[in-house]
Amino acid sequence: MDILKKEFRTARKEHRCDLCQRLIAKGDIYLYQTIVDGDIYNFKMCQWCYNLIEMYPEFRDVELDQGTFEDMVHGLTQEHGCEANSTPEAVMNLLRRLI
Ligand SMILES: [Zn+2]
Repeated sequence: MDILKKEFRTARKEHRCDLCQRLIAKGDIYLYQTIVDGDIYNFKMCQWCYNLIEMYPEFRDVELDQGTFEDMVHGLTQEHGCEANSTPEAVMNLLRRLI
């Protein structure tokens, strides 16, 4: 996997974060990457995910797709006392309070 382009952009329209599926509102700053991995595709990441990855270096050592990301977030929240069977929304809510 190679990253051809990595830049922060200001959303001119609404986007969906490719990791947490959160809405990136018009005017929000988000990370835009062009990735080559067999195919070329664009990957958008919201500020919240970016902050999380900055704070927890273990996220940088894996190829993040939505499933891997959710698993890792789940692992983190269990460390912080969240129930193992929490919904992704509950997990995200807990993490939002932590960071
Ligand atoms: Zn996100």
